[in-house]
Amino acid sequence: MNYIVLDLEWNQSAKGKEYSISSMPFEIIQIGAVKLNDKFEVIGEFDRLIRPQVYKTLHSVCSEITEITQEMLLSGEHFVDAAEDFLSWCGSDYIFCTWGNGDLLELQRNMNHYGMDNKFPMPFLFYDVQKLYSICFSKGKSRLSLQAAVQELKLEENERYHAAICDARYTARVMKHLDFSSVEKFYSIDTYRVPRNRKEEITMNFGNYSKYISKTFDTRERAANDRGVRSCRCFLCGKPMVRMVKWFATNSKNYYAMFICEEHGFIKGKLSTKSTDDDKYFAVKILKCTDADGVEKIYQKRLQEREHRRQKRLNKSK
Ligand SMILES: [Zn+2]
Repeated sequence: MNYIVLDLEWNQSAKGKEYSISSMPFEIIQIGAVKLNDKFEVIGEFDRLIRPQVYKTLHSVCSEITEITQEMLLSGEHFVDAAEDFLSWCGSDYIFCTWGNGDLLELQRNMNHYGMDNKFPMPFLFYDVQKLYSICFSKGKSRLSLQAAVQELKLEENERYHAAICDARYTARVMKHLDFSSVEKFYSIDTYRVPRNRKEEITMNFGNYSKYISKTFDTRERAANDRGVRSCRCFLCGKPMVRMVKWFATNSKNYYAMFICEEHGFIKGKLSTKSTDDDKYFAVKILKCTDADGVEKIYQKRLQEREHRRQKRLNKSK
């Protein structure tokens, strides 16, 4: 299997957000990618400039960051031509690797805008190299910029940043320095397309945590209150767990809970509701093994939340 290390540069409405299309807020103007074999050796490169069709004027921030000029874009290709070439260049046996989790979302939004078939697998797994880097070097706590990671690893900075092909090359070089066998199970799951029904719902076990992606619902409330979404069986043994702390909300999108499995101990639950581009809602649930400290943190969080609500009520009644 090959690794396709992908980086995109995009433009946005120069007139401001209110003039942008919600299903495609960012228009891709550059595709850069490096193909690596299973030994992480470079076996190919892809580098294309794209002439924008929707946001034709370069936003000042985009041109500043990317150093791409309005004139350069005139020599660019149409997105569909470049994207079709890119997908056939990728081949059939590969996994995408990106710095952060935004590129595949924008790639699919742009493909959808032009009516291109989305033939990516479901679930659509990829490697977020920024996340893998964080797991390797800071227990998953931090999220460094690509440049910061390159500098931390003391890699030679022989080209600029924010040119798609350069960032793809840097990302590929960072990947080479990861202890990949220790992080290769930590796939990310793209959620541009989400399960349409119960049968398609996704549950993945990553060892010390699991991720579940629900089907879509018409409202955020339905997604959050769905019995399937809230139900809690241990992701390690499948047995029902005892609820120590019931699901409680910290805002309109996020919920927490604490469970205990007879065999596997404390398990923390986090539930987030998210919206799709076609105004549906789905839930992402993460169950994670934790310890007494983790339990205490959840108790504290619930206490804070209750206090916060009490204050709000008092302010209202004043
Ligand atoms: Zn268990």
